[in-house]
Amino acid sequence: MAGMSTTRVPLIAGNWKMNLDHLQSIAFVQKLAWSLKDAKHGFASVEVAVFPPFTDLRSVQTLISADKLELKFGGQDLSAYDSGAYTGEISGAFLKALDCDYVIIGHSERRTLHHETDEEIGAKVTAAIKHGLVPVLCVGETADDLETHGPSAVPVAQLKAALATAAKGVDIVVAYEPVWAIGSGKAATPAQAEQVAAALRVALVDLIGQEAADATRILYGGSVKASNIAGFMREPNVDGALVGGASLDLSEFSSIAQFQKHVGT
Ligand code: PEP
Repeated sequence: MAGMSTTRVPLIAGNWKMNLDHLQSIAFVQKLAWSLKDAKHGFASVEVAVFPPFTDLRSVQTLISADKLELKFGGQDLSAYDSGAYTGEISGAFLKALDCDYVIIGHSERRTLHHETDEEIGAKVTAAIKHGLVPVLCVGETADDLETHGPSAVPVAQLKAALATAAKGVDIVVAYEPVWAIGSGKAATPAQAEQVAAALRVALVDLIGQEAADATRILYGGSVKASNIAGFMREPNVDGALVGGASLDLSEFSSIAQFQKHVGT
């Protein structure tokens, strides 16, 4: 499978979680765009995406479209349903109408705090694809899972459950986020991330076919910073990062996006 990575454009994705209101989002995206422009960032060689709260999306869309910025953006969740009596939920159709490219699905905080099941996550993946959004499907094991089942069993099982009914050839992004590494400051090692990413790619072959599996970006997430991104990006099956805390720090996130400049440091 190594060697196929040349065909995958790396993706650096910032999950803002419940941070930055719509006014703050405008200021942040503007500064991020300036910072990347100053650094002559090549968006064709490294894609950069932000995932603001729902209430920011219209502002972010307007700014990106008016200033013709090359940043991508998406929602942090969506409903499995198209429309109807689902108070508080957001349809994939609404996200698509705001020009979202991506939507995060199955983040560990939603699995834990909102008790989202593999079945619901699978239904959300189906809904995202139906509405023309690329799901960023999050999978990952807890510290207990790691001890009990080893490194890749739980993330692979979550992937299989979420993609059980997916068609061959679908366009998805997978984010491997060990729960013990999220927000803990204790990132996985590049070798640990590679081991699970490689197992996920093998599972993807059965689920969505060889060609789509080779084309799927598998991100690592969990305490990624400017100082550790290069190690992850050297791994053949790691095609980017889903960044939480550090995505809210302009210079950190900008530097993570420019990892190609510090690979080897
Ligand atoms: C996340 O929540 O997706 C994440 C990876 O968080 P952090 O980078 O803060 O560990």
